[in-house]
Amino acid sequence: MALAGPAKAVDISSALTQLEPLGADEYFIAFGPAGRQFCGTPNGYSARQLPPRVVTDVLNGGVKKVKWASFGDGHPSSYFFAYEMKDGSPGHRAGKAIPSTLRPFLNHVFQQSLELASSLRVQLGANRSWVAWAGTVWGCRKVPIELEAALCQISVQYHADNNGIRGVLKSGTLTNVTWNNSGGYYMKSSEHIWSFESAVIQRGWNVLWDGLQHIVQNEDLDLAYVGMDPHSTTGDTFAFVMKKQAGREPDFVVRFEPEDMVSRLPLCKGEFSKPTDNLELVDTDEPTEPAATGLHANAGPHRQVVNVAKPPDGTPAYRWAVSRRSGRSHASDTWELDLEKGKRVKVLEEKGNDWFIVQDGRGRKGYAHGSWLEFKEIHPHIDPREAYELWKADTDKWLQIGAIRTFPSPSRYMDACAKDICKPLKKEGNICAHDLHELLRGSGKYSLEFLKAQRTRYHPDKFARYCHPEKKEELKSKAEALFVLFGVLMDWLENRPQKGQVG
Ligand SMILES: [Zn+2]
Repeated sequence: MALAGPAKAVDISSALTQLEPLGADEYFIAFGPAGRQFCGTPNGYSARQLPPRVVTDVLNGGVKKVKWASFGDGHPSSYFFAYEMKDGSPGHRAGKAIPSTLRPFLNHVFQQSLELASSLRVQLGANRSWVAWAGTVWGCRKVPIELEAALCQISVQYHADNNGIRGVLKSGTLTNVTWNNSGGYYMKSSEHIWSFESAVIQRGWNVLWDGLQHIVQNEDLDLAYVGMDPHSTTGDTFAFVMKKQAGREPDFVVRFEPEDMVSRLPLCKGEFSKPTDNLELVDTDEPTEPAATGLHANAGPHRQVVNVAKPPDGTPAYRWAVSRRSGRSHASDTWELDLEKGKRVKVLEEKGNDWFIVQDGRGRKGYAHGSWLEFKEIHPHIDPREAYELWKADTDKWLQIGAIRTFPSPSRYMDACAKDICKPLKKEGNICAHDLHELLRGSGKYSLEFLKAQRTRYHPDKFARYCHPEKKEELKSKAEALFVLFGVLMDWLENRPQKGQVG
């Protein structure tokens, strides 16, 4: 199903930089089958595979912004893109393989006014499903029955025929409609209307609001965007992005399967079950900025923040825990591992709601509840001076030679921090602020001036000059994350937080 030709032959990212970014609080994420993805944000766009026709549209220079996109299934030419053209007029590119049942709706809209056409959006989904809307009219076919019912409920009239259902809203217009495979949906008209169904999405939702409660006191707090992957078989891929608050990067909670949930909120900790535990963390040391840059243009949520997968060398990274008690938290549940107090277990997988799959010293596997485990991080603790020397020697060499293909990640030289708050970040192979602090401390000249000088090296535009062209965009976003982290350290030095959390 991969696209042939142009997607590979043309440098998509350079095409995308020709576009004007979306306005404040404007987002869309088009999820597609086979890893297709396209995001638009106020910081720019990012794409994994773009239809050749769309690449051509952008390269031709007439397109000012991409306002919306979605991908259908069954054929790579099942897609819909809405543009704002440079002359201000609306533009659309619908692939020739969109569901035929959608055509009459599109024709209807195009025959009306330019104004109506400019509000046209189409969300395509799995099994040739779709929802389309423009002004007060909407149509849909093969979407979850719950979503269909919800659309009818906010409509003054609707009727069904062979091409699906068509209706007219009681008031207002739709700005977003999306759904998942578990019967969950979200839509936005004058208000947010949703039902998530997926437990994973529900948890993300709770994380979002619990987290915000702790850090922001603002009645204007509102969602900017909700995305769900209608192609996901589990229905567990989603994105919640909040409207930007003054002085803060937008808060978000996203999960792109198969990676873990990632949150811009400081609550992103373990399974998020005990918000009170996090209060202290909220006040102190979370280096949230790297995650924030995840919604930045060229990185895109899927590239920078959520690109977890395995550690670069392919060896699985395990956590260790020591059992606090003997037996099972629910004595009769045989799927729980029969734990032995004080014995070490290997944590193989996090299953959510504070449940883990663990393996004991005898190789037996089973579930264990987080409350029965004491987590230990076992890291080779290198002397910071030695670590810094190695890192310095390597980076100096890389920068001298140039054409860098793999990022000289400092996390390979220092991995000592075991804070829960840093785990999501570290899982992605990124270094956390604590480890970076520890590593740089090894220089023996840790100061504001030193940090400033070091940071300059990783200014994304500067760093890009040392990168191999093929890897430039990817490495640039990593450099940017590190650049931001240096800023965090500088900030710590300048504004020492009350609780002295560093180190
Ligand atoms: Zn840390």
